[in-house]
Amino acid sequence: MRTRLYIIGLACLGFVGCTNGNDPHQPKNPPPKPPAKKTISVDFNADSAYRYVAEQVAFGPRVPGTAAHGNTLIYLRKQLARFCDTAYILNGTHTDVNGNLRVVNNVMGSFNPSSKKRVILAAHWDTRPQADEDSVHFTTPADGANDGASGVGVLIEMARQFKKLKPEFGVDIIFFDQEDGGESGGHPNTWCIGSQYWSDQALNQGYEAQYGILLDMVGAKGATFAHELNSVHFNHSLVLETWKTGQQLGYSSYFLNVRGNLITDDHVFMKEYAGIPTIDIIHYDLNTFNRFPDHWHRQTDNMDVIDKNTLKAVGHTVLHVVMNRG
Ligand SMILES: [Zn+2]
Repeated sequence: MRTRLYIIGLACLGFVGCTNGNDPHQPKNPPPKPPAKKTISVDFNADSAYRYVAEQVAFGPRVPGTAAHGNTLIYLRKQLARFCDTAYILNGTHTDVNGNLRVVNNVMGSFNPSSKKRVILAAHWDTRPQADEDSVHFTTPADGANDGASGVGVLIEMARQFKKLKPEFGVDIIFFDQEDGGESGGHPNTWCIGSQYWSDQALNQGYEAQYGILLDMVGAKGATFAHELNSVHFNHSLVLETWKTGQQLGYSSYFLNVRGNLITDDHVFMKEYAGIPTIDIIHYDLNTFNRFPDHWHRQTDNMDVIDKNTLKAVGHTVLHVVMNRG
């Protein structure tokens, strides 16, 4: 070992005297450096996203089986059809962990549907049947402005932007039904029925996406987002890249480098059933016991909590990540 070090030392000394022009180790015509990758700048209109949130809320709580739910389903398909290359309702039934048959109406819009290289962006569109965290009105649903409508509103605005940006790869935008009807304190698989149904089908049909991003409760004033722990397990590099991008774009007060908690949300089934390494951008409140925002599953989850600045922070960041990741 010692001898070898000595030889290397001599070799290094020997190079000191070389001139660049005569250095036999330098190729005569070095290959040109590849051009630096140009950053694609993106636009995200928060007024427009806010309007898409308000329009959903105006239908009333989107509780499965209600007229408001049916009307919103038509609205969502129509919105995606305006901007995407294809848009359709994916409906069917799923037997949940308790043996109950659940009707599912997911909505999907796609750009470049035949492209092999794809990314998927998701949010849930249903409203929890009862605001059971509310101390007074706990048997009736809340408006679900943040829990449900905010993620969908951001994604509709992103669809509007993708139509202009014309990504060279495939983009799927999916709105999951029946995410929020689970049993409090019950089996985790009583939640996220729409994504369980879709992920089973996706696996059967050989659907593949490079990665996924789920948005849940992304519209409240002063929201903060931590590194949700399932997301860290599924796709740590995407968590880091997304948070770093958000911070670089000026949204450091939203994207915190804080370890979050472990949340069962649609991304769990997208990863565990369909194999798509998906992350969840979900409100993580530093000041509440359960780390969900104070209005979570309460009647206060209405348009009063929605802030355009938060919608912009999330939409701008995710759009930037998707377009520049390629
Ligand atoms: Zn919820």
